Amino acid sequence: MKTHPDPLSDLDPRTALDRVGREFPDLPLEAVVKEDLLRQGLAFSPAALQQTQQAKPKSYFIFSFDRVPIAEMPAEEHRRIPEEIGLVGGAWGFRRTVVSVRLNPSSPYRVEARAGGSKHEDGPRLELELSGEPIAEVLLPVRPPYYDHVLSSGRPLIAVAPTIEWGYLIYLTVFRVCQYFGRDEECRFCDINENYRQQRAAGRPFESVKDPEEILEALTILAATDAEAKAYTITGGAILEGLQGQSEGEFYAHYAEAIEARFPGRWIGKMVTQALPRPALERYRAAGIRIYHPNYEIWDPERFARICPGKARAIGRDEWIRRIEIAAEIFGPSRVIPNFVAGVEMATPDGFPTVDEALESTGAGLEYFMAQGITPRFTTWCPEPLSDLGSHQGPAPLDYHAGLLRLWRETHRRHHLPAPPGYGPPGVGRAVFSVSAFMDVIDPDTPVAAL
Ligand code: SF4
Repeated sequence: MKTHPDPLSDLDPRTALDRVGREFPDLPLEAVVKEDLLRQGLAFSPAALQQTQQAKPKSYFIFSFDRVPIAEMPAEEHRRIPEEIGLVGGAWGFRRTVVSVRLNPSSPYRVEARAGGSKHEDGPRLELELSGEPIAEVLLPVRPPYYDHVLSSGRPLIAVAPTIEWGYLIYLTVFRVCQYFGRDEECRFCDINENYRQQRAAGRPFESVKDPEEILEALTILAATDAEAKAYTITGGAILEGLQGQSEGEFYAHYAEAIEARFPGRWIGKMVTQALPRPALERYRAAGIRIYHPNYEIWDPERFARICPGKARAIGRDEWIRRIEIAAEIFGPSRVIPNFVAGVEMATPDGFPTVDEALESTGAGLEYFMAQGITPRFTTWCPEPLSDLGSHQGPAPLDYHAGLLRLWRETHRRHHLPAPPGYGPPGVGRAVFSVSAFMDVIDPDTPVAAL
């Protein structure tokens, strides 16, 4: 499984990592390893799984974010792996680094259980190994007491209001499918619809549309028992034909209004939807949403059209960008944080053929937005096998991901921007954002933008 030629493909994974670490001495090594783990995924030994199944479990909060489907998890890993791991100490003296777990039994990265106990946790020591060599100790997220609550519907709280980012973010996927459907409409890196199907088939009690009352019930439990969560995200698939008689703007607004009416200002409200017209954005802001994520996914115009065909047809790239700028007027530029999927611009068959070309294009998008005070962030592309692009290829090269971290940080510094709000503290050893390392490479002294 290959993407476009990977300059490091002839090297074993440890040598490739060493080389990238030497080429990017200005990046924390923790951030480079985090990106490598996110792009390649992570394996667990049977003994490690015995231990991880006691931890806070992976909730499958929206996409699968795994490199294999559930059908290829003979050890039922999807029920036993943790949401995230923390890397600390070890041979390279890591500062605590939080990484989302993306299962890949073939990954050169593997979590192993070792006798001898841990300085940081009870029980056997877990270690992260790369090609058989230990590189860091593994911390597990503690299963919070609210995960044992069963709601009045009979559904466990975790199916309704899981928390991620080491407990910082309550993730509310209120519509678990997307009305862009099929190869000619769905974003080609996305497995939301297929993941919903495989999770239901595996017995997970997911509903396509979450009941607002059930969310309020779950949040009531969280509000009474948890002090870690500082923000919530409302999100889900695109709505084109209406849902329950509502447009996309109306549908998602109702959840924000219900939450903020019951818990005004209790958490930082964040909304991830398509780039919507001004009235919907004004309604979100009036409801109490503070941060808006109209994810543009990929900057290059031609590749946007090919990789996000539904979005290109229904809204169009130019209108998408115009609406991001309108959102900046309504929320304030630093509180508009559109996501792109880092690495997908190198995916075959349409991606850039070289790392330099991919970074040049993506850098132009960063420059365009950051010059206006809008701070895009990225998630590291996980080629999920149930998505169109992930069905036949592996990830983007590691030197692309390291180059992007450097580029993002340089552009952010050049424009003297604050750290994005709603992500917890910036800096290596402190960051909790788990699906890319952009927060890990921000100088820890950088002030966080006001809300
Ligand atoms: S709009 Fe695209 S990325 Fe978002 S859920 Fe639908 S297919 Fe996935």
